Amino acid sequence: MKQRKEKTMPDYGYFCKGDIIPAGEMKRQFLSKGMKPTTGYVCIRRLAGKQCKIGSPRGGRCECTHPLFDHTELFIKDGKPHTLVTQPYSLRDEELSALLSMCEKFNLKISMDGAAWHFPGRALRVVITQKH
Ligand SMILES: [Zn+2]
Repeated sequence: MKQRKEKTMPDYGYFCKGDIIPAGEMKRQFLSKGMKPTTGYVCIRRLAGKQCKIGSPRGGRCECTHPLFDHTELFIKDGKPHTLVTQPYSLRDEELSALLSMCEKFNLKISMDGAAWHFPGRALRVVITQKH
């Protein structure tokens, strides 16, 4: 006779001082800084006050279609695009170079840490904002 298995939620989050902090809680803390997800294009150009090329009449390729952008979200603060978060599993030299070039071109600053809520402990969190 087969033993009945209990369904349990996977422990999915950050391990901190013996506790699991759910990934959703990390995102909630991030959003508590007055940010909300955009309902428009998730595009690095919008941080520079420019339109995403995908939405333009000419169409075409846009910087935001670069494969380095993975699990990407754009957040609005005070009614304007404020922070882009992308959570790739890795960044190879050419991807990192492309990312830094984009930030320089659009006058943006970048930081990276391990606080990805997409896949804690596996994905990188790259945070891109305007220079103030
Ligand atoms: Zn775009």
